[in-house]
Amino acid sequence: MGDRPVSESPVLVLNAGSSSLKYQLVVPETAEVQAKGLVERIGEPGSPVADHTSALQAMQKDLAATGVDLDTVGLRAVGHRVVHGGPDFSDPTIINDDVLDEIKDLIPLAPLHNPGAVSGIEAARAEFDVPHVAIFDTAFFATLPAAAAMYAIPRDLAQQYRIKRYGFHGTSHQYVSRAAAELVGRDVAELNQIVLHLGNGCSASAVRGGVAVETSMGLTPLQGLVMGTRSGDVDPGLHTFLHNELGMTIAEIDTLLNKQSGLRGMAGVNDFRELEQRRVAGDEAAQLAFEVYVHRLKHYVGAYLALLGGLDVLSFTAGVGENVPAVRAAVADGLEGLGFYVDPELNGVRSRDARVISPDGAAITIAVIPTNEELAIARETAALLQARSD
Ligand code: ADP
Repeated sequence: MGDRPVSESPVLVLNAGSSSLKYQLVVPETAEVQAKGLVERIGEPGSPVADHTSALQAMQKDLAATGVDLDTVGLRAVGHRVVHGGPDFSDPTIINDDVLDEIKDLIPLAPLHNPGAVSGIEAARAEFDVPHVAIFDTAFFATLPAAAAMYAIPRDLAQQYRIKRYGFHGTSHQYVSRAAAELVGRDVAELNQIVLHLGNGCSASAVRGGVAVETSMGLTPLQGLVMGTRSGDVDPGLHTFLHNELGMTIAEIDTLLNKQSGLRGMAGVNDFRELEQRRVAGDEAAQLAFEVYVHRLKHYVGAYLALLGGLDVLSFTAGVGENVPAVRAAVADGLEGLGFYVDPELNGVRSRDARVISPDGAAITIAVIPTNEELAIARETAALLQARSD
């Protein structure tokens, strides 16, 4: 690392999917983003990027083109986003051979997500001789009480196959719930919070005193809210119906519910900007999709209010939560009797900052908190290394 003070040296944050690699070089203490980018089409036919090792080479080439050389920036560590941490990973974890084997062992629980992370970790460990840390998207939800995490299926089966509600987007829910506490100037330990992460994937969480007590995603990220292309909650009997009536296979049903449902399924578009344009122009399918989306959100907000027994802060985050005032207004609309008020003027303000959109003095603070998963991963990575060196 040369003479560079550790507080200036960056963490490389990697988010490796099966066919893409998102990267960001960020200094945890200052939040300075030194570089970021995306390598796509990994392993696809005709792509110049054959595997994750070539993807890292492509990344380094892109970085070099912007004047960043990873050999001389004083790289502190690599933080890897791993979607599924299974029942055992409840904290950021230094990656060694055993940990990598355990992450591989979790592939049956996340067949779409964990293989990419494994390839990314293997390639990056071979390439960068610094500590590698895994940050699990499920970790924040390891605290869910059994009453929230357990599905009402035979207990032995659930235990043997590790079937339960895990929850996802945990890094974002944790980051936002802490940032919301900072915004309102109170200790996170004193607050009951609901966080709505509304991006392409959508999830809700209930957080008591900084600890997650419920979340809407489940064994997989398919459960819960209406999403861009995922259905969220459906009757589990739907699978049987589709199989019996249409002869659909499990794989076809999985694709239907993950890729062809949600906003796309109902209105033909999954991008919320386009949905809003169509809705405002009077498109009936877009209007109905919006209403289903909001109805489901209200359903969860009401449920979590009851679970928490009272609420201090409701936060909106991610692409839709941060940028679509109509969704925020519609969620609060009609819930005034429960203490939810959105100030139309504050709600209409366009900003990249964390901000309150409920009126002064409202019992429940409603906030917009831009999420920053890369920064959160970099900070958790740095904090773990710091803790080990103390
Ligand atoms: P991801 O889950 O992939 O991290 P994001 O948090 O980036 O997703 O959110 C993506 C969603 O946010 C898309 O539906 C996109 O249309 C929506 N979105 C992003 N910016 C805006 C905007 N300015 N106005 C409306 N919708 C937006």
